[in-house]
Amino acid sequence: MTKKNEKMISVIVPCFNEEEALPFFYDEITKVFADLKEDYEIILVNDGSTDNTLQVMKSLSEKDRHIVYLSFSRNFGKESAMYAGICNASGDYVGFIDADLQHPPVLLKQMLEALETGEYDCAACRRVDRTGDSKIRTWFARQFYKVVNMISDAHMVDGAGDYRLMTRDMADAIISMSEYNRFSKGIFSWVGFRTYWIDYENVERVAGKTSWSFWGLVKYAIDGIVNFSNWPLDLASFFGLVTTAFAFIYLIFIVIKYALFGDPVQGWATLICVILLMGGMQLFALGIMGQYLGKTYMEVKNRPHFIISQTNKKEVKKIK
Ligand code: UDP
Ligand code: MG
Repeated sequence: MTKKNEKMISVIVPCFNEEEALPFFYDEITKVFADLKEDYEIILVNDGSTDNTLQVMKSLSEKDRHIVYLSFSRNFGKESAMYAGICNASGDYVGFIDADLQHPPVLLKQMLEALETGEYDCAACRRVDRTGDSKIRTWFARQFYKVVNMISDAHMVDGAGDYRLMTRDMADAIISMSEYNRFSKGIFSWVGFRTYWIDYENVERVAGKTSWSFWGLVKYAIDGIVNFSNWPLDLASFFGLVTTAFAFIYLIFIVIKYALFGDPVQGWATLICVILLMGGMQLFALGIMGQYLGKTYMEVKNRPHFIISQTNKKEVKKIK
């Protein structure tokens, strides 16, 4: 049981098809906690895995009281898994970590030290390199951070993932952000608080494979922009305004030209170009509006972020 004055740590581990990685992960993180005096719980969130991840979780929980598992009724995505974990975490410190050992558990000690000083509310890790990622993926990632930091409300740090430990206050602030379209990198930054950064070198997955496709990442990047900025909408209005101004000037030019020189039938090519350009720009602007409308639609429906169908924890928010 927790001794008086002793803090309790909750670490949340989103897992999707991690049957191979989980046993390695469990060994590593247990070693880390063995060196710490704090009590802890490891919240394993099974995000609708199609392999034996749940069985592995169950057998771990049978031999170790620190293991809590929450199993979703289907795959809801990593963001939902993180949210389910944080909504059900009881620690004074709450952290997120990946199951594939790409987030080295030993860093938890440093994170805890930083929080214990009382000077920080959050200790977060950022990788300083991207070895293992393809060149093109790295390039796109860099561009994403450039664009997003230029236009959005939240400053996102290049290389910063979800690996972090935070105080109860910050965790509560994150729980209060119950938006349906979740983009944790933005949420962490949006809630503010004092963050201590720890740099680490990129580590490759211990087993299994990444669930991200290139297009998945592109979609994720668009989400990041749309969720924290209205800048694309402003851009669409700006384009609209500029083309209208041009069209107006051109119209005056044509009227004057007609008055002076008559109307020899000419300019088919120009016409087609203008029609295509205008059509394209209209569709583009409509697409941007569609992005926001789609997100608004999902928010308004107010559907739950997750549905937990199996767990070993007594009091659990099963649906939220
Ligand atoms: N994950 C999840 N649900 C998903 C996809 C991934 O819970 O739909 C988990 C996965 O099990 C892992 C973490 O999120 O613990 C990071 O996923 P992954 O390693 O595939 O991403 P990468 O490290 O390549 O960014
Ligand atoms: Mg990974």
